[in-house]
Amino acid sequence: MKILLPTSTAGSLPKPSWLAEPEKIWSPWKLQDQELTDGKLDALRLSLQEQLHAGIHIVSDGEQTRQHFVTTFIEHLSGVDFEKRETIKIRNRYDASVPTVVGAVSRTKPVFVEDAKFLRQQTTQPIKWALPGPMTMIDTLYDRHYRSREKLAWEFAKILNQEARELEAAGVDIIQFDEPAFNVFFDEVNDWGIPTLERAIEGLQCETAVHICYGYGIKANTDWKKTLGSEWRHYEESFPKLQKSNIDIVSLECQNSRVPMDLIELIRGKKVMVGAIDVASHTIETAEEVADTLRKALQFVDADKLYPCTNCGMAPLPREVARGKLNALTAGAQIVRNELLA
Ligand SMILES: [Zn+2]
Repeated sequence: MKILLPTSTAGSLPKPSWLAEPEKIWSPWKLQDQELTDGKLDALRLSLQEQLHAGIHIVSDGEQTRQHFVTTFIEHLSGVDFEKRETIKIRNRYDASVPTVVGAVSRTKPVFVEDAKFLRQQTTQPIKWALPGPMTMIDTLYDRHYRSREKLAWEFAKILNQEARELEAAGVDIIQFDEPAFNVFFDEVNDWGIPTLERAIEGLQCETAVHICYGYGIKANTDWKKTLGSEWRHYEESFPKLQKSNIDIVSLECQNSRVPMDLIELIRGKKVMVGAIDVASHTIETAEEVADTLRKALQFVDADKLYPCTNCGMAPLPREVARGKLNALTAGAQIVRNELLA
C-alpha cells in the first residue's frame, strides 16, 4: 500500500437480516438453494460497499458467504463427518458439539475461490481474504482418524496451501490465517503451530498475515478475559518465533485489551495490523480513542508498517454499530496520518 496507515478489518462483518439471523455466530441461513447462493453474493456486494463508503483501504468479503470462519471451510473437505458429533472444549474455554474426523482429510474442490474472484471483479482496492489457520481448525474437531493434533494440523496446512495458491491466482492481495488458538496452546504453537502455518503459505507471492486475538465478543470469550488478570502477555509466547517466520503481517488485538503495547517490539520488522476497534463492546470508539491506540503502537512499530484494523471480526455486532466503528477507524487513522505528515 502506498498510503500511510492503510485501514482494514480483521474479517467478518454483520450479515443483513434477510440472509441470516443477526447478532449471532453460527447463525442459520434464512434462504435456500439458488436464492441462498444469490443472497450471499448480494450481501458480499453490500458489505464491500459499506467498507468503501467508510473509507476502508484494504477491503474484504466481510465473510458474507460463510456461516462461521472455521466450520464453513471444514464443511467443504472430505474426511470429516458432520453428522457424527462429539462434545469437546474449544480453546480450553467452552463446550461445543463438533464434527468428527473419520478418514484422511482432503480438499476435493476449491472452497472460496469463486467468491474471491467475484470480490476481485467488484473493486480495484487491495483485497484481503481470511482462512482459518491449521491449529484453530484442529481445535474445532474431534479426531478419530489421525489421533494426533500435530498430524492433522500438517494435513490441514497442505489443504490450506492449495486453497491459498488459488486465492492468490484469483487476485487476492493479502491472505490471512486466523489463529486465535495461538493465544492458548503456547508449547504447541512453537513446536508445530508456526511450522504448519509456514507450510500453509509455502510458495505464495502475495502478502500473508496471521490474525491472533482473544476472540469474538461472545460471552465465553469475555468471561475468559475477566480471568486473565491485569496484563495479557500471551503474545509474548508466539511473537519471537513469528518474528523469524516468513509471515509478512501480524494482526493483533489492542483496543480496550490489557495487552502491553511493548510486546509489539517482539515482532519488529513485520507489518502490524493494530486492532484499534473493540469488537466486544457496542460502544462506538471516538476518533480520538482510535488515534490514541495507534499513537501508542507507533512507539513499537514503524509508521510505514502500521495498518490500523479491528481487534477481531464484527459478525456478532448490530450493523449500525459495525458501521459506526468502521467510520471511527477511518477517522482515527486520519488524525494520526495528518500528524505523521505534518
Ligand atoms: Zn479474531
